[in-house]
Amino acid sequence: MPRQLVIDSYTSLDDVQNTALNCAKCGLCSTRTHVVFADGNPKAKLMIIGEGPGQKEDQTGIPFVGRAGQLLNKILESGRIDRLTETYICTVVKCRPPENRVPSKEEATACRPYLEAQIQFVKPKLILLAGATAVQHLLNVKDPISRIRGKWFDIKNDARVMPVFHPSYLLRNPSREVGSPKWLMWQDIKEVRRTLDLLNNA
Ligand code: SF4
Repeated sequence: MPRQLVIDSYTSLDDVQNTALNCAKCGLCSTRTHVVFADGNPKAKLMIIGEGPGQKEDQTGIPFVGRAGQLLNKILESGRIDRLTETYICTVVKCRPPENRVPSKEEATACRPYLEAQIQFVKPKLILLAGATAVQHLLNVKDPISRIRGKWFDIKNDARVMPVFHPSYLLRNPSREVGSPKWLMWQDIKEVRRTLDLLNNA
């Protein structure tokens, strides 16, 4: 997708949001309650991209507010990362897939220009891809998260991109033992905090 073309279609991030709020480009528009555009700080250096809204997100219009979102908040807090001021959080698709199914390739492709525009207007330095759907759509790789998590990839504009476990996966794997998914997430968040500090002090 030609990136310049995407951002040239909008005058601002608000413009992107207003367009998305009225979007009917895929079938998910027919079952949604709210379009879930983003949360956090549009000037943040850190962007977190998840899969799509769940039930709570659909009800509230805010990403990551259900159980997985609450765990994400704890993970961020444990890494001394302030969700409101230091992150901009969004998802691959902005409308809830029924029964929380994985969004189809067609749905993700239809929604992609909004995500590309969000990346171009926010200009994050670091992007966390939470879970397989975000990784597959943005990195175009099918490797298991367990194999590629915690590594920085240099592919999105000026941003470094890191795959991490989705919080909902961590809810299903609550062990904190050394080497467990939660423990690995803790290592990844410490690396994100360290890199943010380097960027802030540069
Ligand atoms: S998921 Fe994206 S493309 Fe589909 S209707 Fe919602 S905003 Fe539009």
